[in-house]
Amino acid sequence: MILTADYHTHTPYSHGKNTVLENATAAKKLGLRQIAITDHGFNHLLFGLKRKRLPDLRAEIIEAEKLTGVKVLMGMESNLISIDGDTDMKRDDLDKFDIYLCGIHEVLKYKRFSDMYNIMFANYTAYKLGRKPSAKVIANTTKAYVNAICNNPIDILTHINYKCCCDLKEVAAACAEYGTYIEINTKKRHVSLEELNLMASVGARFVIDSDAHSADRVGDTKIAEELLNDSDFPMDRIDNIDGRLPNFRFAEYKRNVNA
Ligand SMILES: [Zn+2]
Ligand SMILES: [Zn+2]
Repeated sequence: MILTADYHTHTPYSHGKNTVLENATAAKKLGLRQIAITDHGFNHLLFGLKRKRLPDLRAEIIEAEKLTGVKVLMGMESNLISIDGDTDMKRDDLDKFDIYLCGIHEVLKYKRFSDMYNIMFANYTAYKLGRKPSAKVIANTTKAYVNAICNNPIDILTHINYKCCCDLKEVAAACAEYGTYIEINTKKRHVSLEELNLMASVGARFVIDSDAHSADRVGDTKIAEELLNDSDFPMDRIDNIDGRLPNFRFAEYKRNVNA
C-alpha cells in the first residue's frame, strides 16, 4: 500500500515532540499529499490544546504548507465526553478547524461524573483487569459513539476499541450512514482483521493514520500492513492509499453552513 495522506499527527501543541513544519517535512519526504495536525482536545487535563493558541497553530500551518507544498490540515483529536455524544469541539470552535477527529481518552473532563464513570472508568477498569467489559458498558460506549457520529460532523473515529469496547458493527453502520471514517491506527493495535472485516461488511470506510507523536513516525503503515497484506480485506475501502484521497464530511458541512 502507498499512503497518500496521514490525518492524525501530534505536535507540542499537545504532547507531540516535533513541530508542525517538521511533521510536514517528514510527509513531504514520504511523498504524502496531505497531513493533518491533530493535537488532543481541549478537555484533556494534561495536554489538551488551548483555544488561545489556535491562531499560533494556524500561522505555523500556513508557513509549513508554504515551505513544503504539502497540504496541511488543522484538526483536533477531540474527546468523546458524554453518552449523549458530546465532544470537546464546541459549535463555536468548528470554524477554526479543517478536520475533525474524535476518540475516547483518559484523564479528561467529561460532561458529567456519570459519563466519566460509564465511558472511561468502566471500560478502563475492565481493561486493566484483562476482562471484557459487561454488556451494559459496551452498550453505553456504543451509544456514546453513535450519538457523537449523528450529532457532530466527525471525519474520523480514532483508534476505535482501544482500551474500551463498543459494538463495532453498530458503530460502523452509523459511520457508513453519516460518512465518518474509521481509523486503522498504526501506533497501537486496536482492532483485529476479523473486526475490520466486520465493520467493512456494513459499509464502513477507513483511513490509515500514524498517530505520530514524533516526525519520524509520520506516514508509518507497519501495523496496518501486517494486518492487511495478503488478507481478504477489501482494500478499496481505505481512502488514503494508492492515489485516493477521502471525501470528508466536515469540509462538506462547512461548505453547506457557509453557503
Ligand atoms: Zn488518541
Ligand atoms: Zn492521537
